[in-house]
Amino acid sequence: MKLVEEVGELAEVIRKNQRYQGDPNKAIKGTIEEELYDVLYYVIALANAFDVDLEECCRLKEEINKERTDH
Ligand SMILES: [Mg+2]
Repeated sequence: MKLVEEVGELAEVIRKNQRYQGDPNKAIKGTIEEELYDVLYYVIALANAFDVDLEECCRLKEEINKERTDH
């Protein structure tokens, strides 16, 4: 699955601390910034494929997480 592959790529660039330097003339390729985008892209694609409202999921899960941290 592409998402798992992209998470692996993200782990690799995090391990190497490969950052985008903010220069628009320099490639984003092979950076943490690129791989975070790739992971987000496939998360959103999966949400669309399963007709999931990610915004609603965030709200519901934040409530659960808040209850957990309140105890
Ligand atoms: Mg990638």
